[in-house]
Amino acid sequence: FNTERFGQHILKNPQTAQSIVDLASLRPTDKVLEVGPGTGNLTVRILEKAKHVTAVEMDPRMAAELTKRVQGKPEQRKLEIVIGDFVKAALPYFDVCISNTPYQISSPLVFRLLSHRPLFRVAILMFQREFATRLVAQSGTALWSRLSANVQLYAKVDLVMNVSKNNFRPPPKVESSVVRVVPRDPPPPVEFGEFDGLGRIVFGRRNKTVHANFMAKGVMEMLETNWKTWASVNDVIIEDGLDFKKKVEEVLEETGFAESRAAKMDINDLLKLLSAFHDAGIHFA
Ligand code: SAM
Repeated sequence: FNTERFGQHILKNPQTAQSIVDLASLRPTDKVLEVGPGTGNLTVRILEKAKHVTAVEMDPRMAAELTKRVQGKPEQRKLEIVIGDFVKAALPYFDVCISNTPYQISSPLVFRLLSHRPLFRVAILMFQREFATRLVAQSGTALWSRLSANVQLYAKVDLVMNVSKNNFRPPPKVESSVVRVVPRDPPPPVEFGEFDGLGRIVFGRRNKTVHANFMAKGVMEMLETNWKTWASVNDVIIEDGLDFKKKVEEVLEETGFAESRAAKMDINDLLKLLSAFHDAGIHFA
């Protein structure tokens, strides 16, 4: 049993397992994606409520246990087990995602789900508490970060339940929390790479001014390269001796964000700043 490698902490408290599944408010027509079913403590409860479950499990021994658990029961034909790494597996259509996965794949899990199309209705995900609180953090609070902004750009996220270590066997080292993720539908018309690229700069040092972060090593060079590429693709002629740094500073001044700090900027502020840069032909990805 390689507990560390696969993060195999099995949910032993039946009430907690039931609460997690109940949080999804499953409908009889729902197709559910479960990531990391383990021995199936959530899976059997999902199968009671949903039309179909695709469970992606990396450890073949766990998959075998789950297979055994439903063998010969009516639920068997509602369950498809995919043995493999969620990060690489092809995903089926799903209405709802439910997951208690190892915490190593928290970030890829969230972003892979949010970039999947068509969009799902809701995801109920268990994370390390620290990660969960960062996901739901609001601007102006201590935990507001690039992660919070990136996720909240695409989804409404709420922390819906705390789960203590002693609900698991073996107990993990950290506390856990369950988060509800509801994608914004339609998604905002922003390229993720652009929003995230701006975030990388302004959250570089979240308590420094936006201007200071743009002056950090390498930033101006990177933006100038992107800008020249953009100009050549769009047949825009760059005048001789144009001062690129000044061009960037003008955008910062115009928008009024030069002296702002990412720690206090919300998603709308970030979107406004991004769009002003795009108007000036300056791109981040
Ligand atoms: N969901 C079960 C429960 O709540 O009792 C098991 C939880 S256990 C924390 C995580 C499960 O995810 C393990 O069965 C592990 O083998 C599986 N797993 C780990 N990494 C995975 C990955 N990249 N893709 C799919 N499954 C993975």
